[in-house]
Amino acid sequence: MNLILLGPPGAGKGTQAKMLMDRYGIPQISTGDILRAAVKDGTPMGLKAKSYMDAGALVPDEVVVGIVRERLQQDDCKDGFILDGFPRTVPQADALAEALSSLGRLLDAVVSLAVDVEVLVERLTGRRTCRDCGRGYHVKFAPPKVSGVCDACGGELLQRDDDREETIRRRLNVYDEQTSPLIAYYRQAGLLTEVDGMLSMDAVQEAILAHLGKEQARR
Ligand code: AMP
Repeated sequence: MNLILLGPPGAGKGTQAKMLMDRYGIPQISTGDILRAAVKDGTPMGLKAKSYMDAGALVPDEVVVGIVRERLQQDDCKDGFILDGFPRTVPQADALAEALSSLGRLLDAVVSLAVDVEVLVERLTGRRTCRDCGRGYHVKFAPPKVSGVCDACGGELLQRDDDREETIRRRLNVYDEQTSPLIAYYRQAGLLTEVDGMLSMDAVQEAILAHLGKEQARR
């Protein structure tokens, strides 16, 4: 199953990707996670990406395309993958098509999650992550037992630098301008399915699985 999850920041792509990963036994490829790890490790790529990320802007296409091209060739992607946060521009989508064709692979589906802007802002401003184990929380919707402390490992809960309101608004504008054209792009390619991302996590998951089940039956 070769999948793309498309949608604005906060639409639930990461959450759904993790559920799909468990279900299908294929990896989630999150360019955001890969870039954040590079920033944390202080690699040359991380140093280059950091200023764009802090500003809520997109990292240049050639950087992220290079990451994904390399990642797709790794062994654990041979039965499929879930792209989360990539592609984000039309040139990235074109580069992905080229990379997949050179590997003799095809996309099976592109799932687009739609969520109202004010809900996105509320979801993103409340998002917290454990600095030690990476577990995710939300101050309102999924709070830890003790404020600021991870239930699982006792680690400190941090807010992503780019999850502050001003940067979030910028990231949402970037999505509208540069990423949302991909909805028409993949609709035209006959690959798009739109899911209401305002529903509960479980209902969204059910809708995605129902669609993917139909796709599998068709093939
Ligand atoms: P995310 O975790 O997907 O919200 O990504 C966090 C940040 O990483 C984005 O705001 C961008 O600065 C950068 N980033 C992640 N994926 C991409 C991509 N496909 N193209 C360009 N920049 C990206």
